[in-house]
Amino acid sequence: MYAVAVKPERTEAIILQTFAGRERDKMVVFITPDHGKRKGWAYGARSMRSRFGAALEPLAKVRIGYIEREGDEVVRIESIDLIRSLFPAQQDLVRSVSATFIAEMIDTFAQANDPAELLYRLLDRTTAALLEGASPLAVVTYAEIWILRLAGIFPSAKNCIECHEPLERPLRFDGRLQGFVCAQCAGRDASVVPNQVSDALDAIAKLAVTDFAARAIKIDTLFEVRSLAGTIRRNFLGYELKSFEVLAQVMI
Ligand SMILES: [Zn+2]
Repeated sequence: MYAVAVKPERTEAIILQTFAGRERDKMVVFITPDHGKRKGWAYGARSMRSRFGAALEPLAKVRIGYIEREGDEVVRIESIDLIRSLFPAQQDLVRSVSATFIAEMIDTFAQANDPAELLYRLLDRTTAALLEGASPLAVVTYAEIWILRLAGIFPSAKNCIECHEPLERPLRFDGRLQGFVCAQCAGRDASVVPNQVSDALDAIAKLAVTDFAARAIKIDTLFEVRSLAGTIRRNFLGYELKSFEVLAQVMI
């Protein structure tokens, strides 16, 4: 008999989703800075007097203790202490759905067991910004672009995807190539990106989310940035995220 290696971990995490399991158990999907996205069982979490309490709600920021057995994909959750609840934002439909949409994007793009510190920080800071009253549209726009950047899918806005020459304003986006092209390479699939959209993309790349949200960027411009992000995301995934439509209905 060989003993199975058992490793206890204790780390900061944000809950992405929970599912009801057998009996009174809950399956919890969470993201951590150092161990990426993980899945764990919280045994007895659905009983009335669960020791996990309200800390298991989606988007709660927690300190989580779990036990990992070598070879098991699913860990066993031992303890959860709440650091920050999403609760105040849940009283505001647009904020609540915005947070859910950002969490679904992170859940989709985060790899299991892959360190995901930047994705984790993005989720942490955008959720905090929503709780602190930043414009939900600005926060969602920021998150959509950054998730594509961190996933390595957002194309370079510096060089033409076709001939690699430096790009000039206005930028042109080619839907077939899924990248920015120069005036010479622009074919019939390329559309001109308004300069205020390019400025917003620059601001997203340079600023923290709260500073970006504090800039009074026009709603139309933010929707154009979202439209570009949506095109690139759908092209990569081959489908649209579940909460996208819900968000579209509440964010007018
Ligand atoms: Zn070119």
